[in-house]
Amino acid sequence: MKPLLHDQHLHSSFSNDSDEDLRKYFIEASKINIPYVMTCEHLDFATFDGTNWIPDFDNLIKYQKELKKEFPNITPLLGLELGYKKDYLDDTKALIEKYDFDLIQLSIHDGKYGDFYFPSTFQNKEIEVINYYFDLMEEALTIYPDFDSLSHIDFGFKTMVQINPKYKFNMFEDRIKKILKMLVKLNKPLEINSKVNDVLNNIYIENDSNYHYDDHLRYLLSLYKECGGTKLTLSSDAHKANRYRLDFDKHIKTIKEMGFNKLSYFIKRKEYYYDI
Ligand SMILES: [Zn+2]
Ligand SMILES: [Zn+2]
Repeated sequence: MKPLLHDQHLHSSFSNDSDEDLRKYFIEASKINIPYVMTCEHLDFATFDGTNWIPDFDNLIKYQKELKKEFPNITPLLGLELGYKKDYLDDTKALIEKYDFDLIQLSIHDGKYGDFYFPSTFQNKEIEVINYYFDLMEEALTIYPDFDSLSHIDFGFKTMVQINPKYKFNMFEDRIKKILKMLVKLNKPLEINSKVNDVLNNIYIENDSNYHYDDHLRYLLSLYKECGGTKLTLSSDAHKANRYRLDFDKHIKTIKEMGFNKLSYFIKRKEYYYDI
């Protein structure tokens, strides 16, 4: 039997917003014979708390080497979740050059209105803020194409849905299509983020009887396909080991049903495919 797909978007205590011990992900992976554990820690400059979030990669790499001894069947991989900030691109590039990364995921986390994680950022100006969020994503894809996968395209959107569940992704179809087409042109995969889907599913199921658990995901996949997209990654964005590979089986089933037959993964920033 071929090994299960590894989870490429995990946060541990090397990210400012997680206190999980990296070792716990190795335990989870070893239970089901998964050959890789990739962390994807946050690099975010000038965050909402007034600090720069820069992982301590020297100690992270040291710890990965210790874990490799304890879990000889697992290869540790080094990912980075890059929170795009136009004013810090030089610092970003310097850090990316300094370490031997396996995967760079591009994310839009915050901007002039605040952090898109917090509903207060959207309060009373949801449409204005989500349009700005899409503006930033377009800007990032235009001026910073040195990444491997686009993370959680719906990260800001899932926060505005927390304010009002009437919002649906198709209300912003033109904006999303433009971004998906840019991504296809760059030949980079779209990340399917099972944490975002989990948040959205819970809100929609509680508030809208017409919306089923993966309608949002199916819509995103159909739009991506329409735009010529074929490349996907699937990740949990776990900040706790009990969220490792969150709903992967359900997601893979839907992804297959929507006509995709492979998922991308990265080692030394080279793309490989996992048949589903
Ligand atoms: Zn993120
Ligand atoms: Zn993340």
